[in-house]
Formats: sequence, C-alpha cells, structure tokens
Amino acid sequence: MAREPLHLLKTVYGYDAFRGRQAEIIDHAIAGGNAFVLMPTGGGKSLCYQIPALCRPGMGLVVSPLIALMADQVAALRQAGVKAAALNSSLAPQERTAIWQAMEKGALDLLYVAPETLLRPAFLERLRAMRLSLIAIDEAHCLSQWGHDFRPEYRRLDCLADLFPDTPRMALTATADAPTRAEIVSHLKIGVENSFIAGFDRPNIRYAIAEKDAPRRQMLAFLEAHKGDSGIIYCLSKRKTEETAAFLNERGYTALAYHAGLDKAVRDANQTRFQREDGLVMVATIAFGMGIDKPDVRFVLHLDLPGSIEAYYQETGRAGRDGLPADALMLYGYEDIALRQRFIDESDAPEQRKRMERQKLDALLGLTETGQCRRQVLLNYFGESHAPCGNCDNCATPPEMFDGSIAAQKALSCIYRTGERFGQAYIVSVLLGAEDERISRFGHDRLSTYGIGKEHDARTWRSILRQLVAHGLVNVDLAGHGGLSISERGRDFLREKPALMLRIPARTGGRPAKAAPH
Ligand code: ADP
Ligand code: ZN
Repeated sequence: MAREPLHLLKTVYGYDAFRGRQAEIIDHAIAGGNAFVLMPTGGGKSLCYQIPALCRPGMGLVVSPLIALMADQVAALRQAGVKAAALNSSLAPQERTAIWQAMEKGALDLLYVAPETLLRPAFLERLRAMRLSLIAIDEAHCLSQWGHDFRPEYRRLDCLADLFPDTPRMALTATADAPTRAEIVSHLKIGVENSFIAGFDRPNIRYAIAEKDAPRRQMLAFLEAHKGDSGIIYCLSKRKTEETAAFLNERGYTALAYHAGLDKAVRDANQTRFQREDGLVMVATIAFGMGIDKPDVRFVLHLDLPGSIEAYYQETGRAGRDGLPADALMLYGYEDIALRQRFIDESDAPEQRKRMERQKLDALLGLTETGQCRRQVLLNYFGESHAPCGNCDNCATPPEMFDGSIAAQKALSCIYRTGERFGQAYIVSVLLGAEDERISRFGHDRLSTYGIGKEHDARTWRSILRQLVAHGLVNVDLAGHGGLSISERGRDFLREKPALMLRIPARTGGRPAKAAPH
C-alpha cells in the first residue's frame, strides 16, 4: 500500500479531495506534531487521525469511549482493507489474546482501545515495547470534569505524554467551549499552537436576536414569513410548550408540543409526524433534538434564552441541514437572564463549576448584546475567525448604540433610592415622573430621581434596564415580585462611573432571510 495521504484517501476511502483543514492536520501529524482538532459532528475528524496513523511507521492507537462506535469504525476500516481491531472489556479472553499477538507481530495498522483497557499497567508495558505511529484521543472533551460526558479514566490519559514522548498525540472533539478547549490542550500537553478549529460556520442560517418586547406578536410576525415551513420553537418550560402550541393551533398553524413530561408514545408519535410531514411546527423543550434528522427545517425560534452558546449553536444547527436558507431567531428578556442566574446560584455544584457556568452565561449574554456581526461572535466563541457575514440581523441593520453611562447611573440611583425592592414598571414610572398613586404614597415623587429620565420613553427605559441586567449591574429577584436590586458590579459602576455603550431599541426582530447568502 502506498503510504501517501491523497492516495490513501482515494484507495481506502474512495474520496477525491480533502475537506476543510483535513489536509493541513494530516500533514502536521505525519510530520510528528501534536494536534487538537475541534470540528463539528460530521466534519470528518476520523480521517484526520486514521490517515497519518497509516502513513507513519508503526501501529496507530485510538482511544475511544464508546464500544459500539469502535465496532462500527473497525468494521468499516476492515472493509476497506485496513488491518484494524478493537480492544475493550466486551471481548472474550481468546479474542484479546489474538489481538495482542497480532499487535506484537506488527500485523495491525490501527488499534481502537477503551481508556480503562489502555491504562492497565501490563498493557501499557506491552505498548511501550512496540512502535506507535500516532495516539488519537477521540471525544477528548470526556476528560473535562465540568462537561456532560465526564469520564474519570479520561483524565488519566495525561500519562501518555510521559510514556510515549516521541509519538504524536491528537485530541479530537466536536464540543468544546474555550475553557474546555484549554483544559484538553493543557491536560494532554498538546500545546495551544497545535489547535485546529474549523467547520463550525453554517452560512445558510440567518441569525437574529431580539429583546422580548411583545413575544407573541414577535413570534407571529416571524412565523408569518414561514407559512407552510417546518420549524422548531424552543421554550424553557413544559407548560409553555403546550400553551404556545395551543395558541398556534388556534391561529391556523399545525403545532405539536414535545417535552419530557409527555408519554413516550406521544413523544414518539409527535417526533415521527415532524419527521415525515411538511409544514409542522414543533414547540419543544430541549428534550427535543437528539436524533432528529430532518434536512428541511426552515426555522428555529427560541422563545426563551438558551442555556449556553453551545446549546444555542446546537439547537439552531437543526435548521437548514439541506443547505437552503434558514432562519434562527432568539427572543430574550431580563427574566430569562435572572432565571439562568438563579439556576446557577441555587445549584449544588462546587464553586469552581459555578464560576464556569457564570462565564458561559456571560458569553451568551455578550452574544445577545453585541452590536457586532452575530456569526463573528458565535464562531469566535468556538475559536474560529470570520469576516462580517452579511447574513445576520446586525449585519443587515447595524444597531444604533449610544453612550448609556448617564442613563445607567440614573437607573441605578433610582433603584437605590426606592429601596431596591420595586420591579421594572415602577422604576420606569419614577424615572419618567409619572403621576401614580403608589409613587406618591411611598413619597417617591419627592426623590431627586423622580422624573430625571424624561429624555427617554418607557420602551427605551425598559430596554436599558434589561441591558443593565444583561451586563450584570442589576439583579432581579425572581423569588419575590421581580424587584430590582444593584449587584456588586453595579455598585462598582456607580462608584467608578465608567463608559457604557448601550443599544437603542429599534428592532423587534422577526424579519426573515430574503435571499440565499453569498
Ligand atoms: P466526525 O467524526 O467529525 O463526526 P466523520 O469522520 O465520521 O466525522 O466523517 C463524517 C462523514 O464525512 C463520513 O461519512 C466520512 O466518510 C465523510 N468524509 C470525511 N472526509 C471526507 C472527504 N474529504 N470527502 C468526502 N467525505 C468525507
Ligand atoms: Zn453578520
């Protein structure tokens, strides 16, 4: 077999050309470099380690967490004439011995191995006595303690760097935000300069994010442009999915609800209908998503703030798999933000994890508040750079910003002087100097902040307050009656009075993509 990448690509895999950064990664690994490879699912990660493992002398070792996945890969490789095998706890002793013998005879090109099998001292000793071409660590995010797929054995893979100092190591994953990425690269001693991140852009999805103003009206305006399209509407609560589906059915849409509280039979039936029929709107919690493979989902609407940037990317990524234009609109309000903050504050997670969760929330809020191209900010979060896209709300209509420092100071001192217990509507009334029986009863018409905000209308003040919540300057007491109070950061702000740019509320969102991008 000629051991040349392009030749292997054609003869073993039957493809004509490398995709994205595959060629670059493969050349880097063949030259002996370590690599961290971040590509979305379906991006073509397997070739990135299989080809260099075949090109370099010695046996390639692939650490993989899932036995079923290993079996599939090995079967496909064998079919293509590659001498591959998988070693894991599901094997009978004779099978294991046969693999060990083949391995030591040099008769294997690639060995897939489960981490716990690899880490047995006797096995590591055997490996040390032979020549390895490359060590690939698939699903490398499993080593992150804060991730959903944490596997303690994965953390122990850090020993590979010391045991096999001359063998290039490649870590691969589809899901890694900046902290997880840094954790993988440092834990496995790969070197940040060896990061290869690509393929996250979904150019046909038009991103738009708007403040919740009149959510039902915003939803209907958005759907107006999607009559007859299939789409997904995500809500935070089970009850809201049902209420929203009922509301849409009254308005002539065909909408179904989907959440974990429904009978499995109902869920399955709804999912099947969505998959098969045209023009169905699925109103769902995040329970809906795994295993949907519908290419022509034309829109994804978030009626509540998603859980994180990764969640947003995954959920919107269910739209437009066929490559045709698709729309993603997110509506968010300050109660959503406060609720997410409360989830974090009240969880039993250790402090370090909470800090991480807060950073993730801040990143998400940064995406909602940005005046920059949404795609740029989104891809930047995954480590990929991009020029302004021309296919998002901010590119289409750059938001107007204004110096909001004075407005923020006025709003914060109004919250402070009224005792940090009133909600948004009340604070706005005081700022505007409204005639209000409650205001005079509390004597708040005699405060210095009464009527100091007449330069903005009520809608603008509501938006300013929301933005202050998003910037972390104001807290919302959701357990009580939505009373606003000043956060630690807000107190610093009042003391130091730094500059703060805020968005002028103009858009209500919901304008659909007009034409295919590019
Ligand atoms: P990942 O592991 O990143 O999810 P895979 O390695 O399973 O992705 O690849 C996804 C699909 O793309 C596979 O069917 C694979 O054969 C195919 N593929 C990978 N690289 C190429 C290429 N250069 N040209 C054509 N198809 C490719
Ligand atoms: Zn853009």
